This record gives sequence, structure tokens and C-alpha cells, in this order.
Amino acid sequence: MIGPEENRKDGEKKAERVKMNCDRCGHEIPEGESYTYRGETLCEDCYLDIRLEVKACDPWAVYSATRYRESSKLKGTEGLNELQKAIYEFVKSKGKVTREEVMGNLSISEQEMQTQLAILRHCEFIKGHKEDDKVYLIPFS
Ligand SMILES: [Zn+2]
Repeated sequence: MIGPEENRKDGEKKAERVKMNCDRCGHEIPEGESYTYRGETLCEDCYLDIRLEVKACDPWAVYSATRYRESSKLKGTEGLNELQKAIYEFVKSKGKVTREEVMGNLSISEQEMQTQLAILRHCEFIKGHKEDDKVYLIPFS
């Protein structure tokens, strides 16, 4: 038998305040901001990553691009290659686009898009935005 509510220890009240961590990146998820995807509990970032299918096909390219930007204190689009600039400018000019639109307009292959998108996301140029179950790319700020 379970005793009256007040006799329980704080630690047992798990169901009320569950601290959640993202199954992918391990970051703590603020209350009410968790997403469930195929049985995984995810933070918004990881969820949008999946929805946008942002996988760094070339993790080294992403790593070196982000490190390079940090170490050289680059501002704006400095240090981006022409393709990255084109994607960023396109997203910025439209305000909200799907990745398919970007690939179509700039004639970018699926794989190229993934790599560039990963870099642009990690360098905080572009982020995912969920609206009516569709995921768009929008400028980071
Ligand atoms: Zn996460």
C-alpha cells in the first residue's frame, strides 16, 4: 500500500517533475519543449535536425568550418564559401524556405545541401523553424 501523499519523499515524486535530457545530444530539455520522435525524447535542436535531415556527411568539414570561424573571429558571412553565401543569402531574401526550394533554386545536390546546411546551422546562420508540421529554413537571427 502506498501511504498518504505527504508521507512520500521528495525524490519519489518523479512523475511531476521529470528532468528530461535529449536522447541525442544529452542536453537538458526545458519543460514543455521536448519532442518525441520514433520513441526518442529530443530537444528542439535535434528534432529539427532530424526533420531537416541535417546530418553532417562530412563531419570534418563542419568541424573545421566552425573552428576556423571561432579562431579567426569572423563576422557576418566572412569565411563562408560562395555556395554557403548563396544559400544564406537565398534564405535571408525569402525569409522562410524549404530545403527543397533551396536545392531547386541553387541547383545543389542532396548531399551537398546536407553538408552546407550542417555548417550553416553550426555557425548559426540558418536554423530550422517548425510550422504546421512543415520544417522551414529561416535566418538564425
Ligand atoms: Zn538534443
